[in-house]
Amino acid sequence: MRALVFETFGGPLTVQDVPAPDPAPGGVVVEVAATGVCRSDWHAWQGHDPDVVLPHVPGHELAGTVAAVGAGVRHWRVGDRVTVPFVNACGRCAQCAAGEHQVCARQTQPGFTHWGSMAEYVALDAADVNLVALPEDLDPATAASLGCRFATAFRAVAQVARVRPGEWVAVHGCGGVGLSAVQVAVAAGARVVAVDVSAAALRLAAANGAEHTLDGGGDVPAAVTGLTGGGAHVSLDALGAAATCENSIRSLRPRGRHVQIGLLPPAQGRPAVPMDLVIARELQVLGSHGMAAHTYPELLGLVAAGRLRPQALVTRRLPLDEAGAALAAVGRDPGIAVVTRG
Ligand SMILES: [Zn+2]
Ligand SMILES: [Zn+2]
Repeated sequence: MRALVFETFGGPLTVQDVPAPDPAPGGVVVEVAATGVCRSDWHAWQGHDPDVVLPHVPGHELAGTVAAVGAGVRHWRVGDRVTVPFVNACGRCAQCAAGEHQVCARQTQPGFTHWGSMAEYVALDAADVNLVALPEDLDPATAASLGCRFATAFRAVAQVARVRPGEWVAVHGCGGVGLSAVQVAVAAGARVVAVDVSAAALRLAAANGAEHTLDGGGDVPAAVTGLTGGGAHVSLDALGAAATCENSIRSLRPRGRHVQIGLLPPAQGRPAVPMDLVIARELQVLGSHGMAAHTYPELLGLVAAGRLRPQALVTRRLPLDEAGAALAAVGRDPGIAVVTRG
């Protein structure tokens, strides 16, 4: 099969012919129809993820069709259209038994713990636990974003922060996951302040319902506090950087909730978390890591009803031959880039 391969961290990204995977017991192989280009793939390429073994094929945000089924899989057949949360849970550990598959103790992740979906085929573990059936009318490029960015934003806003109507939500970083969070928060009835250093990203945030947009280069906490009459109820670091993490926490009103969505790999340095404010304002500092497959029906229902429009965030469709350049340029162009077949 053809796949995007890197053989050194930060080195060349080339499309090569490599052996196609076989399904593991309990797993499937999916023929990839679409795969998003996400900042986490960039981290994998840069060597920020200790799970990645070279040579490596990135890609974890996918939609496609089941092409082969491993022994013991009960619920899936060749030809089924699916997506999958990027955290593939084991289904058997204590976290899984509690329904918290997104923090499974024995999780695998395509594109990190094994070869990913920037390829014609990808192997996925524990299919009965992790696969999500796609509605007929959801196109593959849109569906792919449900594997990582859109679902991650949905979980952060709806399940972790539990955003309520009328609350102020500040979104720091308006890449794919940040724009998704803007859209989900607006749909939940929140008032959104979107922050980014890119004017184009802020225009997309406004188009997705942000009430205010702020340039990230200034005194962001002061500006958010002014616009929201005392600070945001909920603030999200949707980028994953020391500055956006700290700005997010400093943007909160008393008893506000910060949710960390963007990765903060230690290789990029540790953020300075203002714990003095955490105690003085009784802030909550929360993490959000993907979304369990069994909670997808709520998200898919809102998409089917037109309340959420992930398709509005897919701004570029590329062939696999252009995936390497897009991965190297993550963050340069606003919106979500998706590698599509054919
Ligand atoms: Zn588990
Ligand atoms: Zn991702």
